[in-house]
This record gives sequence, C-alpha cells and structure tokens, in this order.
Amino acid sequence: MMIENKTILVTGCAGFIGSNFVPYFLEKYPQYNLVNLDLLTYAGDLENLKEVEQNPRYKFIKGDICNLELVEFLFNEYDIQGVIHFAAESHVDNSIKNPDVFVRTNVNGTFTLLDVAYKYWMEKPFIYKDKYVDCRFHHISTDEVYGTLGESGLFTELTPYAPNSPYSASKASSDMIVRSYHHTYGMNTVITNCSNNYGPKQHDEKLIPTIIRNALKGNPIPIYGDGKNIRDWLYVLDHCKGIDLVYHKGKAGEVYNIGGRNERTNLQIVDRICTILDERVPKERSYKELITFVEDRAGHDRRYAIDATKLENELGWRADENFKSGIIKTIEWYLKKYGK
Ligand code: NAD
Repeated sequence: MMIENKTILVTGCAGFIGSNFVPYFLEKYPQYNLVNLDLLTYAGDLENLKEVEQNPRYKFIKGDICNLELVEFLFNEYDIQGVIHFAAESHVDNSIKNPDVFVRTNVNGTFTLLDVAYKYWMEKPFIYKDKYVDCRFHHISTDEVYGTLGESGLFTELTPYAPNSPYSASKASSDMIVRSYHHTYGMNTVITNCSNNYGPKQHDEKLIPTIIRNALKGNPIPIYGDGKNIRDWLYVLDHCKGIDLVYHKGKAGEVYNIGGRNERTNLQIVDRICTILDERVPKERSYKELITFVEDRAGHDRRYAIDATKLENELGWRADENFKSGIIKTIEWYLKKYGK
C-alpha cells in the first residue's frame, strides 16, 4: 500500500486500544489525518486522548457507528480513504447482563461502516472507483471468537470459530460480515484477532486495573472461580504495531492473529501485581492477603492462546515488550492514575 496523504476514519479511539493507537499512528505517519468517531459510552474517555487533542491532523466526532446518516456524512465530508475499526462493546461480563447492545454495536455498527465504505469507494462488486483503489477496511477483532482451548494447542487463523459469550458471538458475527464483503464485493478488508491486551488507559472494569485499584484501596481483590483461567497477554503497544503492519502490508481478505506468547493464569497475574505493589507501595501486610475468590463468570472460557506465526513470518511482527517489563510500565501508569 502506498503511503500518501489521506484521511482515515478510526472508530472507538476514546477507548483503551484506540487511544494507545492514535498517538502512535499520528506520530509515525505525518501524511495521515485521523477522524475518530466515538460515541463516548461509559468505556470512552477523552482524557485518554489529551495528548493529541490539539493536533491539527486529528479530529474527534462524537457519534454512533450505527448512525447511517452520520457515517455517510463523515465519508463525504472528510473524503475517507481508509477505516480502522476499533469501536465495540468489549466487556464479556456486560455482555452476559446486557447482550442486546453488543449485537447492535458490534454487528449492526460494523455492517453500517462496511456498507458505507463499500458504496463510497466502489462502483460495483470488484470494481473500485479510480481514486479509491487503495482504500482498506481494517476490522479489529479478538481471539475470543475461537472459543476455548484445553490444556494444549493454540488458536491459528484456521481454527474454526466457536464463540461462547454474547460478546465473542457478536465479534465473530462482525468478522463474518467483513469476510463476506471481501468475498462478495471484492472489498479490500483485513481482520486482526488479538489476545488479551494490557497497558495504560484500560477501563477500570477490566482485570488488571481492577486488581491494582482494589489493592491500593485495601479492598478485596476479586478473582473468578479458581483463578486458573489462562489468557495470553499482549502489551497494548505491541498490538498497535501489529495493526499498523497489517493495515499497510497485510494481504486483502486475510485474517491475522496477534498474540504475545505470554500465557498466564489469572492467579499468576494477581500474584505478580501484588509482588510489585509490595515493593513499590508497601503496606504492613502483603497485598496478596486481599485476594478473594468469587463466583465464576457464567460460561467462563478456560484458556485462550494465540499462534502468531503467520504475522511473524509473513509480515515480520515481533512483540517488543515481555510481560515482566510491560506489567511494570502498566503498574506505574495506574499508580499515577490512582494518585499514588
Ligand atoms: P473499549 O471498551 O476500551 O473501547 C471501546 C470504545 O468504543 C469506547 O471508546 C466506546 O465509547 C466506543 N464505542 C462503543 N460503542 C460505540 C458506538 N456504538 N459507536 C461509536 N463508538 C462506540 O475497548 P478496547 O479494549 O479498546 O477494544 C477495542 C477493540 O479491540 C474492540 O473491537 C475489541 O473487541 C477489540 N479487542 C480488545 C481486546 C482487549 O484486550 N481489550 C483484545 C482483542 C480485541
């Protein structure tokens, strides 16, 4: 893909991953303007984007990705020539309590963006308008679409989809719609499926911020079930770098898994964080004494682990951060946020 001046629509970038992505991308590509469409749900926070607020190449629009008129207006107004789509309802626990908004945002919202892009960029199936031949739609998705693993094995791009929660089912559905726009209309799409991210700017509701916040307040640190569920943790900036590579160099119609080869049980995560907090902000008793097991999440997937060989071999991606260094950076950030 040629790197030239253009405006890219990014969605949901007041959230965790997008707000790490935007400053990185603006700095790396002085040719790009970014328009960020975000509804500012409970999960979006413009504080996350303070550092780019004044950047003349960045524009924030508050609005819903399901709003067809608004999305059409933005394509016309800014002559959008690329989409990187982060916006989603993203928390599994919320999807168990309130699945309908997940279907609406993740499925209908993705469809709306895709369909507007198709009509704006293409004359008809497989024929792009001259000016828009390089335009690409990049859909950000999750490893949770693959379901759960036993003690061994890894998710590859060929693993059959088997989503188990309303969240992962809605993401899987959106992946399928993206896939269909490539196969039916010849749209230049790519999908990345990433494992659990951690790092600065993550919403308080997620596991790592929850552990740190409760520990610092001296509250019980809630851990689901037996704490032995395994996730494959990736530092958020490594995810952003993977997205950058796939957006620019990935093959149209392809799917790429992104993951850090950093499998950890929730118990290992909480133990590591408490050990670091015991060193940085010691109290009379170890933070580990606050760990409290609570009733397991309904339908809780046991293990996720990503095989990122395709991204590594075809596009040369490598995670720069390992868990040891990444978790320290992360804790430092939350210590500041929580005023310690
Ligand atoms: P997040 O919940 O932190 O942020 C989501 C953002 O989307 C928020 O700013 C919110 O305001 C916005 N949004 C929600 N509904 C919207 C709507 N209808 N219209 C416009 N904006 C809307 O999520 P995140 O953790 O940054 O995840 C971003 C993407 O990456 C999601 O698609 C998610 O499925 C995917 N993903 C996340 C992880 C992870 O570990 N966090 C891992 C793999 C994939």
